[in-house]
Amino acid sequence: MSVEFKKFVKIRFYGNLNDFLPVAKRQKVQRMGFWGTPTVKDLAESLGVPHVEIYLILNDSIPVNFDHRPVEGSLISCYPRFTSIPISGIALRPDFEVPPRFVLDVHLGRLAAFLRFCGIDTLYDRTYIDNEILTIAQTHNRTILTRDKGILRNGKAYYGYFIRNTNPQRQLAEVVDYFDLTPYFNPFSRCSLCNGELERVEKFEVRTLVPENTFRVYNDFFRCKSCGQIYWEGSHFERITAMLKPFRL
Ligand SMILES: [Zn+2]
Repeated sequence: MSVEFKKFVKIRFYGNLNDFLPVAKRQKVQRMGFWGTPTVKDLAESLGVPHVEIYLILNDSIPVNFDHRPVEGSLISCYPRFTSIPISGIALRPDFEVPPRFVLDVHLGRLAAFLRFCGIDTLYDRTYIDNEILTIAQTHNRTILTRDKGILRNGKAYYGYFIRNTNPQRQLAEVVDYFDLTPYFNPFSRCSLCNGELERVEKFEVRTLVPENTFRVYNDFFRCKSCGQIYWEGSHFERITAMLKPFRL
């Protein structure tokens, strides 16, 4: 009978991957014990770091894939998405397509509306189950935004990001920063209810569709091409303008 011994590697996470670690273990090499022959994906995720946020793994300075199985004593270094250092030749995945397009989990309804206010293509439905989100992301090459690490650990998840903040306004700032979204902002172009594109409509067309007061006061109206929702310059526009102020466009 063969006896299996516990093995050890050293592992270190860089940049914002440390957000997933307990404070005492951040920004330093930690010794990690394991049984069997796990992959580096397994090891990183058992420490709470979802593979979708890892863009480069070095095993003793050599780039490896997620299915690499390290041997006793290896030093594993895991790096996040780089914005300033080109690593395209050795990255674990190419950078996401631009403009970035998203699919959000069911807990992020307000963030979904905020991103749509900014004109960012954002799919969200409160009835989505994890498998639907994974399939939509895979089929349409969308990035999953979620507060659920479970979905990001799924092997089908390719582009994904765990939202750190709980406040929707801060969540928007976080996503804008991580994905460099400001060049793709196109306010007043997308329906906050369904993600459809807005088109300008003549005033007379909305006479019976908006409150009388609104019709009297405003002259510019827009309609969602998908769900028909009517928008006008008013509280909606003011809200968007106020929301975009911190980004100094
Ligand atoms: Zn709509």
